[in-house]
Amino acid sequence: MPRSRSADTSATGPRHIAIVGAGMAGVACARTLVQAGHSVTLFEKSRGAGGRMATRRSEFGGFDHGAQFFTVRDERFRQALEATAAPAAHWRVNTVRVLDAMGQTMAAAPAPRETHWVGTPGMNAVVKHWAEPLASGLLAAQVHWETQVGRIEPDALAPRRWQLRTESPDGGQTVHSGFDQVVLAVPHPQAQALLRASGLAAPWVAQLDRVAVAPCWTLMLAFPQAMQPGLNGFGPRWHVAKGDHHRIRWLAREPSKPGRDPVERWTVQASPEWSTEHLEDDAERVKAKLLKGFAELTGIRATPSHAAVHRWRYAQTTRPLGQPFLWDSTQGLGLCGDWCLGHRVESAFVSGLELALAMA
Ligand SMILES: Cc1cc2nc3c(=O)[nH]c(=O)nc-3n(C[C@H](O)[C@H](O)[C@H](O)COP(=O)(O)OP(=O)(O)OC[C@H]3O[C@@H](n4cnc5c(N)ncnc54)[C@H](O)[C@@H]3O)c2cc1C
Repeated sequence: MPRSRSADTSATGPRHIAIVGAGMAGVACARTLVQAGHSVTLFEKSRGAGGRMATRRSEFGGFDHGAQFFTVRDERFRQALEATAAPAAHWRVNTVRVLDAMGQTMAAAPAPRETHWVGTPGMNAVVKHWAEPLASGLLAAQVHWETQVGRIEPDALAPRRWQLRTESPDGGQTVHSGFDQVVLAVPHPQAQALLRASGLAAPWVAQLDRVAVAPCWTLMLAFPQAMQPGLNGFGPRWHVAKGDHHRIRWLAREPSKPGRDPVERWTVQASPEWSTEHLEDDAERVKAKLLKGFAELTGIRATPSHAAVHRWRYAQTTRPLGQPFLWDSTQGLGLCGDWCLGHRVESAFVSGLELALAMA
């Protein structure tokens, strides 16, 4: 049931705001609200910030198994990166285009028109850098890591406010109360599920059904044997292949990015179509099929010392909302995320920023 609230949610003056999700959108929203004089409590179910700007560690070095790079078109994004000396560097990428389903024909792709930025030493570094002053108490904020929000409900002691029920990985449940407003900065199916579990409706809730997102199976491979003296690496000299392969949409050589460990490592991303078709397949089966595709594209048939897969259920927006955020000032409930505007890191930043500006 939507709670009935007075107009105090849109009142001026400092407010206490809960934000669910410490990806790019949630952290951009949190920082902007704090700068506007509000206090923020951020809830993140993972161990750290970044969301789909993710870096998976391994004994052979990291893998950017989510976002591969980002571009900067919005002047506010550029300024935020510059003003905070965000740990990002230019990836001078040498790309080939795959022109047939079996990966037999490839052509050199023209140099990218836009600068490809990557976080250093891993893709998650930028959001981590921006979340750090929120988590350390330097700003008027608190962060709860490994804390999954399961329900949003009226505050038991102050019904015009919100409280959040959360769960930690050991099953511990906690109620966090006293929030004037709540922001969900999570992929739209997760926002829908949370609203449903909370019995909450907002005027815009039906709009969420129009948004679409595709999954992505990702394979991470390490070949430390390529570092042996005299071998001088193996495999192709290009850094990225993308295009029409029947399974793989993109693969990238991790050490070609600035500030990375030199061990030969590859991140391989299946196409949205293949990932959708094989979404519920066994992980070992997916690994074997993507490894075969990797060999077709790179010619590398050596056995990797490390091979792991990750399934992104909500990887990239295929049909965005078409507006930067959703905000119900009566209830004090807002939604932001890349899916509002597109499928890019920058879409997430702009969405989080614009929602915070509207709220502040
Ligand atoms: C495989 C892949 C490749 C991509 N490639 C690119 C690329 O090359 N370039 C590009 O610009 N973009 C790319 N993207 C998209 C980019 O990663 C996203 O646009 C951006 O990171 C989304 O940020 P966000 O903050 O909106 O969401 P997210 O990053 O998904 O953040 C949401 C956060 O909410 C947390 N969360 C969810 N539910 C709860 C809950 N109930 N309680 C607490 N926490 C919760 C999650 O753990 C997560 O940290 C790619 C994405 C994927 C998956």
